[in-house]
Formats: sequence, C-alpha cells, structure tokens
Amino acid sequence: MSFVGPPPPEKMMFQLNLRRRGISDQAVLRAMDDVPRDLFVAPPHRDEAWRDTALPIECGQTISQPFVVAYMTEQLQLQRDHRVLEIGTGSGYQAAVLSRLCRQVLTLERFKTLADTARARLERLECHNVEVRVGDGFDVPKEAGLFDRILVTAAMEQVPEPLLARLDLDGILLAPVGPQSGAQNLVKFRKSKGGMERKELVAVRFVPALPGIAREL
Ligand code: SAH
Repeated sequence: MSFVGPPPPEKMMFQLNLRRRGISDQAVLRAMDDVPRDLFVAPPHRDEAWRDTALPIECGQTISQPFVVAYMTEQLQLQRDHRVLEIGTGSGYQAAVLSRLCRQVLTLERFKTLADTARARLERLECHNVEVRVGDGFDVPKEAGLFDRILVTAAMEQVPEPLLARLDLDGILLAPVGPQSGAQNLVKFRKSKGGMERKELVAVRFVPALPGIAREL
C-alpha cells in the first residue's frame, strides 16, 4: 500500500497502539500496516475499522481485535518459507496479514458465505498465496499435508489430536482453548522430536469453534 500524502490519523493511532501494547516485530507491524482492515468489514462498521476492537461480520461471527491478530501473528514466529493453516477464515483479515509473512496460507471456514466474501477480498488485494476453502477445522483432510504453523481463530474446548497431527516437526500451533462462554486462554503448542510442548500465553475471548460445515449459508 502506498499513501498519497500523510496517513490518516486513525491509521497512525492504529500502529502506535500496537507498539504501545508491546508488538515489536517489525515485519508483523509492517504487515499490519499493509492490510487495509476497513476492506474486511461491512460498510456499517467501516468507520470503526481502525479501532482496536473486534467487530461483527456476517453469519453472527466477528473479525478479531487488531492487537490480538498482531499478537498471534508475532507468536507464530513465521518464516518466509512457511506453509500455514488457519482455522476460521471469518473476514479473511488474519489470512491477509499471514500472507505477507509466509509462503502459503490455507484457510478453512465452515460458512460458505464468509469463505466466498473473504476469497473475493483476498483476490482484490492480490493475496495470491492464500487459498480459502469451505471446511471443518475438526476434520482437516490428511491430503492437506503437514503445516509449519497452524492458527486456530475460534475457541476450542480442546485441540483435537488429528489437528495437532497436521503439524510438521518444529511446528507451532496456536489456539484459543476454553469453554464457549467462559475464560479462554491462548495456548501455544510446539512439536519437537521430544514430543509436544504446551504453553498458556494470555486470556482471550473468541467465538466458539463448531463442528461440521454450517448448514445455513
Ligand atoms: N480469523 C478471522 C476471525 C475468526 S472468527 C478474521 O480474521 O476475521 C472465527 C471463525 O471461525 C468464524 O468465521 C467461524 O465461522 C469459524 N469457525 C468456527 N468453527 C469452525 C470450524 N470447525 N472450522 C472452520 N471454521 C470454523
């Protein structure tokens, strides 16, 4: 993205707020600066797009709070050659941020409406390394292969074993874990030769991960 003239004040505040809250990875800050969040929300919420809050999107879901997007992206410690799986495409915003920092993103969404809308936005932004698929994060096909990083953006009561199995050696999986209407923690799993390491990071609040493809659109 290039600006004509100085960036609007709300965009400057957006960046300042991320730094103030502790995001220090320059590549992550640049990616957050690069992706126009206002394109990922519907017109009634466009004016609020640069505020550090989650906002409603179609199908009763939410686009995550920018700080949380930046924090999770930083915690993934992405490298250019990484292949990343996201569970919960939602608006497509997080996928767009990821796409700036790795080789390939596969993102799964259980609502067809959300998947279609996100795909159109990502095409418009020329995020050619993102594939949006209608799919269920509780049932990722083995044929999808292994991933260097997996990011779950909907709360799971437990991370299912088959999803952890999609993680390559030295891989990191991040997921909000906890009950649908209660305290959730962002949990970081790291797979090594010695086994799986599990670390709780911070308290978070996400919409629940639900099994299966949504029957409504
Ligand atoms: N990452 C999104 C925000 C995610 S909101 C963004 O940047 O906008 C969580 C999303 O996860 C919702 O869209 C919800 O429909 C989806 N979801 C919930 N359970 C799922 C599942 N089992 N498989 C795939 N997507 C799921």
